[in-house]
Amino acid sequence: MLLASHIIVGAAVAASTPNIFLGLLLAFLSHFILDRIPHSEYSVEPLKQIKTRGIKYCMPILQRVALDFGAGYLVLFIVVAISKENIPFAAWALGGFLGALPDGMSFLLFLKQKNGLVSKFLNSFSALHQKIHFDKKMGLPPLRIGLSTQAIAVLLALYFLIF
Ligand SMILES: [Zn+2]
Repeated sequence: MLLASHIIVGAAVAASTPNIFLGLLLAFLSHFILDRIPHSEYSVEPLKQIKTRGIKYCMPILQRVALDFGAGYLVLFIVVAISKENIPFAAWALGGFLGALPDGMSFLLFLKQKNGLVSKFLNSFSALHQKIHFDKKMGLPPLRIGLSTQAIAVLLALYFLIF
């Protein structure tokens, strides 16, 4: 899913769980549940070549990722700004971050050398991440479905954040 969706849902999960530590753990795990649902997403394939082709080659995707990430937090800021309640924004922000983190870990893997303990860990993590993700071999779902599933997840999350 879009990073923005992961951030908004992660924040909502953290915000809706009474125990903050459990909430943050669940925010992290929410990533995999969302990935499981067929959805539309943009390709980050060029990032795999960041080491060989350089940052300039990856810039268009990196800009998209930054925009996507920023959009997620912008939505959280707007909710905080319009809310009359005292919001534990640190918990929201951290929940959002953890909700998106698995994709960030995949990105780290593209940057790392292929050996070493950290790479081994990132490799295993990434393999598991891919395994849980809905099977893209059969292609992405039609856009109207891929966007609807995402919109439902985000709207539900906003409901839990606002009310
Ligand atoms: Zn993912």
